[in-house]
Amino acid sequence: MSPVVRSVSSDEVLPKAVDVVVIGGGIVGTASAYFLAKRGFSVALLEKGHVACEQSSRSWGWCRQQNRDPREMPLSLISMRLWANLATDIGQDLGFRRTGLIYTTDNAAMLAYWEAWRPTAKEFGVETHMLSAAEAGRQIPQARRKWLGGLHSVADGKGEPAIAAPALAEGARALGATIHQNCAARGLDVTNGRVTGIHTEKGHIRADAVLCAAGAWASGLMRRHGVIFPQASVRQTVVRSKPTANVGEVLYCPDVAMTRRLDGSYTMAISGRATLEITPQGIRFAREFLPQFIKRFKSVKLRLGSSFYGGPESLGALFGNDPTIFERNRVLDPAPNRRLVKIIMDNVRGTFPQLAGLELDQAWGAYVDCTPDAIPVISGIDTLGGLYLAAGCSGHGFGLGPGVGYLAADLITNETPSVDPSPFRLARLTDGSMIKVGPL
Ligand SMILES: Cc1cc2nc3c(=O)[nH]c(=O)nc-3n(C[C@H](O)[C@H](O)[C@H](O)COP(=O)(O)OP(=O)(O)OC[C@H]3O[C@@H](n4cnc5c(N)ncnc54)[C@H](O)[C@@H]3O)c2cc1C
Repeated sequence: MSPVVRSVSSDEVLPKAVDVVVIGGGIVGTASAYFLAKRGFSVALLEKGHVACEQSSRSWGWCRQQNRDPREMPLSLISMRLWANLATDIGQDLGFRRTGLIYTTDNAAMLAYWEAWRPTAKEFGVETHMLSAAEAGRQIPQARRKWLGGLHSVADGKGEPAIAAPALAEGARALGATIHQNCAARGLDVTNGRVTGIHTEKGHIRADAVLCAAGAWASGLMRRHGVIFPQASVRQTVVRSKPTANVGEVLYCPDVAMTRRLDGSYTMAISGRATLEITPQGIRFAREFLPQFIKRFKSVKLRLGSSFYGGPESLGALFGNDPTIFERNRVLDPAPNRRLVKIIMDNVRGTFPQLAGLELDQAWGAYVDCTPDAIPVISGIDTLGGLYLAAGCSGHGFGLGPGVGYLAADLITNETPSVDPSPFRLARLTDGSMIKVGPL
């Protein structure tokens, strides 16, 4: 079942020509469209389903700097600044609040890992405090476990996945962009080695540039045009409660991660409980993902599932050239793991006495699209002029989304990049560079 998302109006008539076509109406595509339109570029945003129908509405909504790979930190700082201003700029609430994040643990290695990140926090001016066991216990009850300690990341926060990308799409539209939902991009129009437009299910648009922000579908889409983008998705389960007592805004412990939503309900999941389904695309990029698989071996279950035959990593997406695969998969909506839903509910009810009667509202599944080093790709494509890629946010693209969109707009409009774009170039994943796996 898909999570609830605020709907956005569509423009029914495709423009004949625009400066930039953006493929994908997730947080990355909508933020890119917004920042491009803000710079005066004409933009058409294409979404095969509806805005935010895939990862961006299924996310926990954390906007964090804490525990990020140093390569992502400059982008993360920019994202937090953008988040803080977007509501005023667009004139709509995106649900962003600097609530701080609370982490607690009974695992000494985890605590040491948080402690080891403090020099990065200092280097980038991020305020973060370690919590003693007693302080941690005051934040998250020690009913199921005894904490060794915790962490308070003061300046981090959350956004509302049901409204953030829709608000960005509407912000872009107010600046002249057109938004086309139920309108899949089928393939690029290429003339003399340069992108000159896009073929969609509703017709053709001429464009000087195309940005592929197609989330989990990006690799298959790029492959049709000879561009190799190593990408793999892991499947996760998320639960939403009914509105309930406030036990904290953004909380993490080994038994549950919780985000309080604007209506007083909680988004809940267990960190690190993911399933890696064996797929043709996964087999294709097995070598590139081996270091990450080894690093996360204990937290990822390997399964053969239906995604071998259908969806973005299937035989059809990888080897076929079927232009309508995107239309047949309007919304990637995998079933949640029912066993895990029960475990999450039991863990929360058993941890917080005030939530003993917590009621389940909804549960959903989701695929998280990852790169081999768990760092996004935000990059022009050397072999195909006018083509850009912004995808592979590896489980942390909601918080980074505004910064990713801003940097993508910098690259497309040929402005001085707001951060060094080299850590995000596509070629790092394909030119034999050593792959250093970052934290998820
Ligand atoms: C369970 C879960 C929890 C998460 N928690 C967090 C978190 O707390 N904090 C955080 O920072 N990140 C989190 N993430 C990660 C974050 O949600 C993603 O990194 C981010 O949403 C990716 O945004 P996107 O725009 O790249 O992709 P998506 O949101 O997946 O958007 C891509 C869009 O492209 C469309 N599309 C694909 N192909 C085509 C086509 N051919 N034509 C037209 N449209 C197309 C799709 O329909 C889709 O809507 C989480 C993710 C999940 C799944």
